[in-house]
Amino acid sequence: MKKLFYLLLCAGLFISCETAPVQQEEDPAVNKVWAWVSGSLKMSEEKLEHYFAIADSVGIDAIIMECHSGYPVVLDSTTFVDSAAIKIIERAVPYAQKYGIELHAWMWTTNRCEKHLREAHPDWYQVNAQGESCNDIKLYGREHYRWLCPTRSEVTEYLKDRARELARIDGLAGVHLDFIRYPDVILPYGLHESRGVVQDKVYPLWDFCYCDSCRAAFKELHGIDPMELEDPTANAEWMQYRWDVLAKQASDVCEVIKAEGKMATAAVFASPEESKKLVRQDWVNFKNIDVVLPMIYHKFYGWEDEMVATATREGVEGLAAAGSSAYLCSGLFVGHMPEGKIYEFMDMTRKAGSKGFCFFSMEGLDRKRGGGDRWGEVAEAIKKYKEGETVTE
Ligand SMILES: [Zn+2]
Repeated sequence: MKKLFYLLLCAGLFISCETAPVQQEEDPAVNKVWAWVSGSLKMSEEKLEHYFAIADSVGIDAIIMECHSGYPVVLDSTTFVDSAAIKIIERAVPYAQKYGIELHAWMWTTNRCEKHLREAHPDWYQVNAQGESCNDIKLYGREHYRWLCPTRSEVTEYLKDRARELARIDGLAGVHLDFIRYPDVILPYGLHESRGVVQDKVYPLWDFCYCDSCRAAFKELHGIDPMELEDPTANAEWMQYRWDVLAKQASDVCEVIKAEGKMATAAVFASPEESKKLVRQDWVNFKNIDVVLPMIYHKFYGWEDEMVATATREGVEGLAAAGSSAYLCSGLFVGHMPEGKIYEFMDMTRKAGSKGFCFFSMEGLDRKRGGGDRWGEVAEAIKKYKEGETVTE
């Protein structure tokens, strides 16, 4: 009903506005509003009802629900089927259907920390330039920083299996890939101080993947063992190899999702260049993907507000230059948008070329500084956004 209302509203606007692009009338992706929310087996029925009902009432079209996080609940060491992730999504489907909200299953991808996997296949984990496996060391002091190798075909098959078992859930709209990258070789700049790291350049401790498979594959192609490179970052082939092999793995996983008739989407780093530099993620070259949602959490980068538009524009242009068929939807961190400013940010990303807008996160909208929540502000902002209103300076 809500969608019909907006359609009628938009149709009305187009009759009275000759300059409006015709495309907006036909493309449901335009001005589509998304939101990320954590899911868990412990989430109560009341909580599920809350998130889907409120999404419906404020105009959120799609919910991306996390179903495999850093600390997986069910450890099935025989089949590796992530039954907990499946159950989390299956419980949410009736609510999505009740309220007419698109539901996407959000999975962690190369960052896999299930204990049984770590025990069964320690050799699948990424190795740094010092020869240490992230299965053995605690990167950045984080227990969940365990990353799978992008070169090994067994890893890709494992990830395809996990994506496929989610994509097969009836009533699901799509599978959303998060953490589809290398561990941070450099953390976003605004986090260095709080994490107590000095990362003025690339250091071997945080530079991955130098596992046997990656070294052998690169040597086969270029005749060099990357472990012997004096300045690995300066070696164009070695950088390109890592970007390409990860993009290929992402593309292969997306292909499985598409084969099940579902949308493939991914949460990626803020801009194409920063992504390649910080986490070796060349997301403009991910194939078989419908939507990329850059996480433009600008304060973590120490960026001014305007950089949200810059990053959005660079992403849109990057996708076009790479000949990608995917479209971009900017994802912003709720806590980085001051009270009363949400619509300005939505409008800023739209003007920079983002087709839709994604909130991180619904939990973040549930609360505000000093008490209460931000749903009233969000409802108003989304209404204006869908009406196509723009901020006047
Ligand atoms: Zn490797």
